[in-house]
Amino acid sequence: MGIAARPGPASGALNQPPPLAGYNLFTQNRPLAEGLEREGGGWAVEQATSFGGLLAGEPADWARLANENPPRLRTHDRFGNRIDEVEFHPAWHSLLRTSIEHGAHALSWREPRAGAQVARAVLFYLAAQTEAGHTCPLSMTHAAVPPLRGRPELAATWEPLLASSTYDPGLRAPSEKRGALCGMAMTEKQGGSDVRANLTSARAIGDGEYELTGHKWFCSAPMSDAFLVLAQADAGLSCFLLPRVLPDGTRNGLRIQRLKDKLGDRSNASSEIELESAWAQLVGEEGRGVATIIEMVNHTRLDCVLGTAAGMRASVEQATHHAAHRSAFGRLLVEQPLQQNVLADLCVES
Ligand SMILES: Cc1cc2nc3c(=O)[nH]c(=O)nc-3n(C[C@H](O)[C@H](O)[C@H](O)COP(=O)(O)OP(=O)(O)OC[C@H]3O[C@@H](n4cnc5c(N)ncnc54)[C@H](O)[C@@H]3O)c2cc1C
Repeated sequence: MGIAARPGPASGALNQPPPLAGYNLFTQNRPLAEGLEREGGGWAVEQATSFGGLLAGEPADWARLANENPPRLRTHDRFGNRIDEVEFHPAWHSLLRTSIEHGAHALSWREPRAGAQVARAVLFYLAAQTEAGHTCPLSMTHAAVPPLRGRPELAATWEPLLASSTYDPGLRAPSEKRGALCGMAMTEKQGGSDVRANLTSARAIGDGEYELTGHKWFCSAPMSDAFLVLAQADAGLSCFLLPRVLPDGTRNGLRIQRLKDKLGDRSNASSEIELESAWAQLVGEEGRGVATIIEMVNHTRLDCVLGTAAGMRASVEQATHHAAHRSAFGRLLVEQPLQQNVLADLCVES
């Protein structure tokens, strides 16, 4: 009766690769390193080398932890006060802090010299290769700067915070912060790509200030300090800057209804929000909302391409590493002719 216990190793799996760690994501990616030099970002090699060396260490563990412990919405505190906050695992904060300190969100604005966009793109690519979710707030924060520059008095307050190399989480008034994040809220239930169908209304209260009332169906990184928001004003769809905390330190009228249960991007929070007479300031001209926010959208969509390329690179690294250490049918996989074809194709594609 029963199956006799078979002898085997008490611990340690046979024919499995060692962890892929302790290498430099930048210097060992020759096309990336050559591209940085070729496209005018050679002055950032040192920064990219230091970031690339760091990322294959502890941040790889943070990436796992941030995805295994997704964010949780806390609508109220224990006393019943509405707080509308999202709690993250400490690993999420470590990822954001590290990427922000290395300029993956803002090098292009902090060092506006030839090749600055290329240099920042490389840093962003390296961050995305390590963990994709946290690049959402990195990307939106980077992308918010160009449209804000259209309103110099707003840019004067916000650009130094958005471009800061200090990660300063927590909801406080801009004057109390050393660094800030920015998101964007366009999509509504009845209109995704077609934002002209937006219903959220903007009521002018004077001096370029408005009260926004309505909802947004997809608002990522809701713990950001401010959002560029589309809403219907008298002259049509317009773009507004909406801070989460008002200058006097009280919370703005933004309520987080629930978090999305997403297939991917799980470390990052995306939310459904309601706006209740939320205070906001006009960015760009009234009625020119799409033309204004498209500058931000455009930069985030470039980052979507970078993030996708980074995901392909991460997959190639995993696949080649695995094949270099795993044997099947008497040879390492990397020595099997058909496997070589597959890996070569992946390398060329990436
Ligand atoms: C992970 C994640 C995070 C997001 N974060 C944010 C955020 O922070 N802020 C925000 O505002 N939104 C956010 N979104 C929402 C995103 O902007 C919308 O999903 C997007 O605009 C598409 O809208 P929709 O999903 O309603 O699709 P729809 O607009 O309804 O489109 C449905 C399908 O039709 C196609 N389609 C649409 N128009 C056309 C056309 N003219 N011709 C041919 N095909 C067309 C689309 O490609 C799509 O396949 C997020 C979405 C995801 C998945």
